[in-house]
Amino acid sequence: MEISIKPNPACASQEARNQILAAPGFGKFFTDHMVSVTWSQGRGWHDAQVMPYGPIAMDPASAVLHYAQEIFEGLKAYRHADGSVWSFRPQANAQRFNRSAARLAMPEVPEDLFLRSIGELVKIDAAWVPSGGENSMYLRPFMFASEAFLGVRPANEYKFMVIASPVGAYFSGGVKPVKIWLSSNYARAAFGGTGAAKCGGNYAAGLLAQMEASERGCEQVCFVDATEHKWIEELGGMNLYFVFKDGTLVTPPTKGTILEGITRGSLLALAGEQGLKPVERPISVDEWRSGVTSGAITEVFACGTAAVITPVGKLVWEGGAVGDEKMGETTLRLRNALLDIQYGRAPDRHGWMSKLC
Ligand SMILES: *Cc1c(COP(=O)(O)O)cnc(C)c1O
Repeated sequence: MEISIKPNPACASQEARNQILAAPGFGKFFTDHMVSVTWSQGRGWHDAQVMPYGPIAMDPASAVLHYAQEIFEGLKAYRHADGSVWSFRPQANAQRFNRSAARLAMPEVPEDLFLRSIGELVKIDAAWVPSGGENSMYLRPFMFASEAFLGVRPANEYKFMVIASPVGAYFSGGVKPVKIWLSSNYARAAFGGTGAAKCGGNYAAGLLAQMEASERGCEQVCFVDATEHKWIEELGGMNLYFVFKDGTLVTPPTKGTILEGITRGSLLALAGEQGLKPVERPISVDEWRSGVTSGAITEVFACGTAAVITPVGKLVWEGGAVGDEKMGETTLRLRNALLDIQYGRAPDRHGWMSKLC
């Protein structure tokens, strides 16, 4: 399918753009264009276009506004020293998008259409890809049920869109250990639920726990399993890793209730090169507490595309806390190893990078 290009006749001035790129923050500013593709029963995917970024008209009865049939992805475009722009494992995002689509009873987006949509958007808005530091362009592909119908069934019309946002570091103030609130009142995912799908509904359901965390002075929430309330799962939008004194790097197995992070998977692959033994196994709240106290666990960190790798300083719960505010050496080493590949400073031995322009 052709993607038609409708250039924005009123792009931001170079001056306005440079001002944004000097301090982009995270997810606050958007580029001059976006991608929109429509799917309808019978016609399938059609009307693919790169068009000026802007508001979209929606019928108030659009199914997504009532029943939350929506999924999304998140990946970044990195500017290398020679000026070229690259993405990191975009095929993995395309494949996960389609696993999420299947779980939410939505049509799949052909991998090739997903990748070309990203490629065309980055090409036309290449001037928006910042350079320097940990700056990048965050790409947000998403799909929602656009059919105007209040009956409950999978919709027969959808929009697939991609928007782009120049970003700096996810946590303002740079890399520093975050405090994590252990949620005992709320669960993120249960067996048979949507925990492994990247859908907006999972995030909506986690916001109240996130508020509870903020009230305790914590930046993020750690969710445990919904059955025994005992096993560590993940944060609201990041996976967790534990560095053990014996050189193992432990992360909970995904098993359908944890989002399979691409950063998580990449670290499983990189651990060996960094002299660590990657292990996927269940880890309990008790093991986290006692391991940090005894010294068996030396570092804990969270990982995801937006914040890369973020050290976890403290685990806080009703009536107690463990951990210190230090940034671990292994955490920093893994973080740099990953960033060096993404920014083209280290050889790409795994074939993870794709050149966009
Ligand atoms: C997106 C996401 C992650 C991280 O996935 P990456 O592919 O590494 O960015 C982890 N947990 C949840 C719940 C997510 O939505």
